[in-house]
Amino acid sequence: MSSIIIQEETTKDPISLIGREAGVCWGGNITDAEKNYKRGIDCLTSGHGRTWEYPQVFMILDGYSARVIREFYTHIAGGPTRLQASTRYINYQKGFPYVTAPIIKGNAEAEKIYDDAMNNILVAMQKLESLGLPREDIGMLLPLGMETKVVVRTNLRNLIDMSHQRMCTRAYWEYRKLMKDMIEALSNYSDEWKYLAEKYFLPKCEVAGFCTEAKCCGRKPRKVEE
Ligand SMILES: Cc1cc2nc3c(=O)[nH]c(=O)nc-3n(C[C@H](O)[C@H](O)[C@H](O)COP(=O)(O)OP(=O)(O)OC[C@H]3O[C@@H](n4cnc5c(N)ncnc54)[C@H](O)[C@@H]3O)c2cc1C
Repeated sequence: MSSIIIQEETTKDPISLIGREAGVCWGGNITDAEKNYKRGIDCLTSGHGRTWEYPQVFMILDGYSARVIREFYTHIAGGPTRLQASTRYINYQKGFPYVTAPIIKGNAEAEKIYDDAMNNILVAMQKLESLGLPREDIGMLLPLGMETKVVVRTNLRNLIDMSHQRMCTRAYWEYRKLMKDMIEALSNYSDEWKYLAEKYFLPKCEVAGFCTEAKCCGRKPRKVEE
């Protein structure tokens, strides 16, 4: 069961923070909350991307597959910081939780094959441990479908950019779910995050106005080649 926890170190008022920081450079009155908010909105609508790097997000992603987290790690803009559950020190010998795709869950025969394969890995790991082999080497058998936990620090700009790629219908289903969970968690964290998530966390076709993918899902038409 996957979940996202937004940690309290996360900026509570991202739009106002953007407005305060930009106001310093514009000689603005940064003691006026209303003006700060309005200035923040201006920076967003004007596409002043650097200012979007002020709001910080600290979050725990728990119960997603190591596979989707491997994809998450490709988003390097803004120098995000990540730590992940250790496959060297955590004892997986009693079993490891893993993600099952809905399409496999909905097919009893397929689910049995999948669960048996996971169990075979577990049995092999237990046998290797009984031979006295080190856990860090046995851990090489752990599958990409195993659940993991990461603690992340990133910023608004990185997440907006990530949403453009990963909310695309062509993106991996678990990543699309992760983005949906993230939007829900941030929206519950504060009203300013709710506004940002609704307005700026969008698939790239919604931003471009047309599909940029080679294989189009039909949500938006492909750009007519000149
Ligand atoms: C349908 C689909 C299929 C995909 N398939 C694959 C796949 O098979 N394999 C795979 O590995 N990935 C795949 N991806 C992921 C994708 O190609 C990117 O690797 C991923 O989105 C992260 O890279 P990024 O550039 O989007 O993000 P970031 O690295 O976070 O970069 C964000 C933005 O920051 C800027 N930036 C970042 N780094 C630099 C730099 N060095 N110099 C200048 N500007 C920079 C750029 O403007 C960039 O757009 C797929 C995505 C989709 C939607």
